Amino acid sequence: MYSSRFKKLHPYTPGEQPQNQEYIKLNTNENPYPPSPKVEKILREYKAGDLRLYPDPKAVKLREAIGEKSGLTPDNVFPGNGSDEVLSFCFYAFFGEENGPLLFPEHTYSFYPVYCTFYNIPYTKISLKEDFNIDLSRFLDTDESCGVIFPNPNAPTGRLLPVDAVSGFLEKYSRERAVIIDEAYIDFGGESAASLIRSYPNCIVVRTFSKSHSLAGLRLGYALGSTDAVAALMTVKDSFNSYPLDRLAQTIGEAAFRDEEYYKEISRKIIKTRERIFTALKNQHWEVLPSSSNFLFARKPGIKGSELYGRLKKAGVLVRHFDLPGIEDFIRITVGTDEQMDRFLETCSRLF
Ligand SMILES: *Cc1c(COP(=O)(O)O)cnc(C)c1O
Repeated sequence: MYSSRFKKLHPYTPGEQPQNQEYIKLNTNENPYPPSPKVEKILREYKAGDLRLYPDPKAVKLREAIGEKSGLTPDNVFPGNGSDEVLSFCFYAFFGEENGPLLFPEHTYSFYPVYCTFYNIPYTKISLKEDFNIDLSRFLDTDESCGVIFPNPNAPTGRLLPVDAVSGFLEKYSRERAVIIDEAYIDFGGESAASLIRSYPNCIVVRTFSKSHSLAGLRLGYALGSTDAVAALMTVKDSFNSYPLDRLAQTIGEAAFRDEEYYKEISRKIIKTRERIFTALKNQHWEVLPSSSNFLFARKPGIKGSELYGRLKKAGVLVRHFDLPGIEDFIRITVGTDEQMDRFLETCSRLF
């Protein structure tokens, strides 16, 4: 009864979401602070009767709010049900079997190969530098490719490329192929490539409300791109689900996006905590990669990553471990509140 297509799937394994409060949860890069007070107000005052009606299939108001902030028009904005869905539509619209493999970094967001299998897109992983930075010149060494995708900052390493490295790459790479920059963590210290979209219509920037905007539970993400690229994404969406964004998500997303000051403040707090923990871990003799995101990628010489993960879990601290050659001894630690991180540090100094 199952299709051959189905039998080939290799699904993504999401980080654990324990349904009790026993853990200090530092494993899926959620924001430790609540969303803007304006979100709370909407939820309190929302009229349940409005849910009788379908949402705006084009999410115009939300796209206006996002476009204004980025100096773009609503026609440059494609919102979706989490950036994972937006990314999936991008893979469908822009990458195929015809022009060679899709290129992405060797260690990166593990959903990319999953979408490749889903849509039958060949791919090639490009090695990182020794310091775990992405080297975009290596992406130019391949003869044929149907496009490029990388997160900036990269996940799970946290390492950031400056925007002029991105523009330098766009200048040299084919204008006929899409380059997707997944900026899930850009608000934690990076500079966005959104300003490059006008000069490089093959460049698409994907963002999410899940991390810096404290709305992982709402499922809201978006792509910024040329009007052509956004129209293509609309075609994919309307071939799949006309209403991926419900009424509440559109209303809340708009209000959240307009409360920039609040979000800048909590991002500043997270960055400050991150730098404090970076130093504290180094003082405990950990090797920690410099991070421009809301997580740290670290290893403790002499101890296996699986052991770090397992012993922390037993002690009530949940982090993420990827059992992949080259990064198997690292754990990824989401930056939580100062109080959570103090307990994390105290647990580490006790255990390791
Ligand atoms: C978290 C994350 C996403 C997915 O975000 P959602 O909007 O919650 O689907 C996409 N890309 C990267 C690199 C991420 O870390």
